[in-house]
Amino acid sequence: MGLHGAPGTCTLRGGRADRGMTRFNSHMDAAFVEAQAAAALGEVPVGAVITLNGQVIAAAGNRTRTLNDPTAHAEILAIRAACDVLGQERLTGADLHVTLEPCPMCAGAIAAARIARLYYGASDPKSGGVEQGARIFAHPQCHHVPEIYPGIRETQATELLRGFFATRR
Ligand SMILES: [Zn+2]
Repeated sequence: MGLHGAPGTCTLRGGRADRGMTRFNSHMDAAFVEAQAAAALGEVPVGAVITLNGQVIAAAGNRTRTLNDPTAHAEILAIRAACDVLGQERLTGADLHVTLEPCPMCAGAIAAARIARLYYGASDPKSGGVEQGARIFAHPQCHHVPEIYPGIRETQATELLRGFFATRR
């Protein structure tokens, strides 16, 4: 998929009215389970699930503290696991469902992995790199741009993060 808007703009699609909503929402449920498992470990609650042809092939939660690894974001771990499962370096045709807007690092990995569709929950004004900040997919240098569906279960995703940070103040 290429950029559909004017040059320099990001392609954001309204997922709420999409016919496939029921299917991808069930995968977002699995992403929330991963996010909650991450929170139970004291990690920032972010979860990601990768599906191919409607089947879950990988799921992961944020593990930066557990693994002492700043790159151990849910999306990165899920992409690594999915590539391992398929025995290949690309995830052509796969969908990524993640509870929070990906950061620039993860957006770069999503492009490199050739993820077909990106579904995410809450926007991340602080660290997001899709709708704001670096806007990775809007750059001409970005060689692959997924279809992007923001705002899936946005309220639930935002509340999960807010609740987590509230308990840590
Ligand atoms: Zn990230």
